[in-house]
Amino acid sequence: MSTQRIAFISVHGCPLARPGSKDTGGMSVYLHQLAQTLGRLGFLVDIYTRVHDSHDPMLVTVDENVRVIHVRAGPVRAPKNDLFRYLPRFMAQVKAYQQKHNLNYAMVHTHYWLSGLVGQALASEWGAPHVTTFHTLVEIKARARAGEKESDARSASERQVVASVDRIIVSTAHERGALQRLYDADEKKVRVVHPGVDLDLFKPGDQRAARDQLGLNGHHMLLYVGRLDPIKGLEVLLHTLASMETPRGVHLLVAGGNEHDEEYRRLNGVARKLDVQSKVEFLGSVEHTLLPLYYQAADVCVVPSYYESFGLVALEAMACGTPVVASRVPGLEAIVKDNRSGYLVAWHCPDAFSDRLEVLLANDALRQSMGREAHAQAQEMSWDGAARCVAEVYAELGVLALS
Ligand code: UDP
Repeated sequence: MSTQRIAFISVHGCPLARPGSKDTGGMSVYLHQLAQTLGRLGFLVDIYTRVHDSHDPMLVTVDENVRVIHVRAGPVRAPKNDLFRYLPRFMAQVKAYQQKHNLNYAMVHTHYWLSGLVGQALASEWGAPHVTTFHTLVEIKARARAGEKESDARSASERQVVASVDRIIVSTAHERGALQRLYDADEKKVRVVHPGVDLDLFKPGDQRAARDQLGLNGHHMLLYVGRLDPIKGLEVLLHTLASMETPRGVHLLVAGGNEHDEEYRRLNGVARKLDVQSKVEFLGSVEHTLLPLYYQAADVCVVPSYYESFGLVALEAMACGTPVVASRVPGLEAIVKDNRSGYLVAWHCPDAFSDRLEVLLANDALRQSMGREAHAQAQEMSWDGAARCVAEVYAELGVLALS
């Protein structure tokens, strides 16, 4: 068996970046949590990522076994869709660091298609196995919502990675099927590992105390958490809010985005046009560690996405004992159990969402029992469990942790 040093490659998603901003979301949380949990299991994890802030130190020690290595490749603020052209530079910088520090990697684990291309070359040069997690796949995304802008190179590159890699980790059985159907993936290479949730951070709390702490009033409160991206469906939720009728009044808090982003301004415009601006508060991105308070304060968390490969937000809300109303898309179907931990809504239409939300908001006992069920379901999905499954995939390729 080989040594246990793992190179995580994540060209655009840095585990230290603040989630909720434009291109930073679940993948950063996933990387951080998975690396730290693998570290506790006895792996040494080096995460190579692009510099995302000009003040980033090159090396950041996250904890005893986990480090982040920031690599300079292209302008700091380059948009995600431009990064393809900087991959040769990124790869050269990773190799230079590895050689300078004489590091031997037993495994390359890549995240997202851009990193898959880099990992393919590095793994073959280092003679190490290559595991990839795509996080999202363009062929599924394109079918979920027309008109998504993507790099021209993405589809062919994903195919190339699918064909060359040793193992592919997907979040759901649906994604495994899609890989076989749309990418002709060899089923023997694909493993389903559900991501997890930090159960020490996300847990139930007293709703009134949470509201007092956040300075919220007695209205019903809906919560949206996530990047502001059209594929997340927040616009449907704004229309839903405009059509809802509740005796106590209802407010929506939106955690995510940044007032300088185009989509933030566009959605504010939609809220004004629908005359719901007094019922919506755009908070910008909220510090991840503060989010439990928001989930605890909310009556319902709404996840109206057109596409989620998994949907960590739904799981975080459930871990806090908050029911979820989500669109019926495969990633969310794997988390939210319809009629038990919330509702799955089959149509991206405001009436379908307001129907389910009004039922829930009108019935305190129903919300509480769904919240309890949601919390119980989330207990089965810890990062510890997810990391142990990833470690099994590594073990299949001959890489074990030091115990
Ligand atoms: N998030 C956050 N602050 C925000 C908005 C989002 O910390 O203001 C986090 C959220 O808690 C979740 C992640 O960003 O862990 C979003 O992950 P998800 O899988 O739901 O969506 P993705 O970004 O992967 O599309």
